[in-house]
Amino acid sequence: MRLVVVGGGITGLAAAHHALELARERRIALELTLVEARERLGGTIATERAGGFLIEAGPDSFLSEKPWALALCRRLGLEDRLARTDDRYRKVFVWHAGRLHPLPDGWELLAPTRLAPFLSSRLFSWPGKLRMAFDLVLPRGIADDESLGAFVRRRLGREALERVAQPLVAGIYTADPDDLSLTATMPRFAELEKQERSIILGLRRARRRARETGVSGARWSLFVTLKEGMEDLVAALATRLQPGTVLLKQRVAGVERRGDRWRVATAEGADLDADRVIVATESHAAARMLRYVDPSLATLLAEIPYASSATVTLGYRRADVVHPLDGFGFVVPHAEKRALLACTFSSVKYAGRAPEGDVLLRDAGTRRAARGARDHGRTGPRARLPVAEGDAAVPRGSPGACGDDRAPRRGAPRPRPRGRRLPRRRDRRLCPVRRGRGRARARRRRRLSVRGQERAFVDVSEPGFGRALDSLSAPGRLTVPTLDGDA
Ligand SMILES: Cc1cc2nc3c(=O)[nH]c(=O)nc-3n(C[C@H](O)[C@H](O)[C@H](O)COP(=O)(O)OP(=O)(O)OC[C@H]3O[C@@H](n4cnc5c(N)ncnc54)[C@H](O)[C@@H]3O)c2cc1C
Repeated sequence: MRLVVVGGGITGLAAAHHALELARERRIALELTLVEARERLGGTIATERAGGFLIEAGPDSFLSEKPWALALCRRLGLEDRLARTDDRYRKVFVWHAGRLHPLPDGWELLAPTRLAPFLSSRLFSWPGKLRMAFDLVLPRGIADDESLGAFVRRRLGREALERVAQPLVAGIYTADPDDLSLTATMPRFAELEKQERSIILGLRRARRRARETGVSGARWSLFVTLKEGMEDLVAALATRLQPGTVLLKQRVAGVERRGDRWRVATAEGADLDADRVIVATESHAAARMLRYVDPSLATLLAEIPYASSATVTLGYRRADVVHPLDGFGFVVPHAEKRALLACTFSSVKYAGRAPEGDVLLRDAGTRRAARGARDHGRTGPRARLPVAEGDAAVPRGSPGACGDDRAPRRGAPRPRPRGRRLPRRRDRRLCPVRRGRGRARARRRRRLSVRGQERAFVDVSEPGFGRALDSLSAPGRLTVPTLDGDA
């Protein structure tokens, strides 16, 4: 059997690997070709090393809760190369009114589970806390599905949505919670309401059960990564393919049906016959490829919008950062009207990301916020780097030394299809999700959540992002760039 896989990101590589596993198991002679448009495999996944730092340009981890990535690593024999988070620093901060506030101990994504830390938290106002407590008495909702935003507003109030749920969800889906289906993105909370009525009580009971059954001592943390970076997974998959299997720098222009076979043609002139084709590209690319094979599917795929985001990774000397960095990072609510969405304290969250005595911080923000970083990376005069008062936080190294290839680039968005938003109409070929109701459904029809990426690199700072990080060195205060671009 001849199989052609289009797209050499993690999806295409994992599909190719699994096809080989099945063929071996079922004793099928499989002739496999993987076609990738770029000059490298991995798609969004890219790990770089510079100056002793390990920098993830794309994903920096996967969730152990969704077991497939972990299972793949096991099958590839990578288990001893996996790394868990340093759970001494599990805290996450929220930027609110000029300060970093820790999420109260026991906070579980949308709701509190422990009373004392919740009551003493300065992240929420007293009316906001009281409104969250209404969850204890509110009846169950009646909708089959609703937007995540509507759900949190209904159960816990606007403050819980604006100060915590929205920035945490934006960090995962780069999307507005009002555009996301609750059952598609956080089915656990829909179930909790159905079974337990109150989210807070349901979460508390689940915690108690986990303690009793000893689940909390699980081997893997929620976020799992590879010690040498996520590209290790790409390399391991690539080495499982026979030499000659991968065609790089070949952009598939069209897929065509020929009787009971397929023809895959690339813009560079390659022409491949196949019994089966797996398309594992960004959905807009798949739409173009499949427009003559299945126009209605192509239309659905083309409707999926790609929201770009940018990551800027900065290396600092530890001594130059006054903030204790005693957490995994912080998120910035949309209501704060800043360009910065989140910052991960990468070298705190994962061991081995920075040389001894240094720290690595990764910002995620809007594309506009990264523009300045790109310019600084190109021209690189150190004098233009924002330096906190009294030289408290001097970014490490000279940006000029980074070279153009290290500077953030604007390019085709790299999609992040992590959200399962509702398609225009239910179509099992696209994704098996339930339809929502009312306004939320109308919005979801317009957009599916996919996240793109701009490339960014270490050492480069930019007025907005840089000042935000520099001001970590001013105890208790933090300045993050506004959406207008000025700090
Ligand atoms: C900044 C960022 C951070 C992220 N962080 C996380 C995280 O921490 N954890 C997590 O689980 N996920 C994360 N994600 C999401 C995750 O990276 C993606 O879901 C995943 O990498 C997508 O893989 P893919 O193979 O489906 O697509 P891609 O990686 O986009 O691969 C698609 C491939 O298809 C190729 N292609 C496109 N058109 C053609 C064509 N015509 N012919 C041939 N080849 C073509 C492309 O060149 C590309 O290599 C993040 C995403 C971003 C952008």
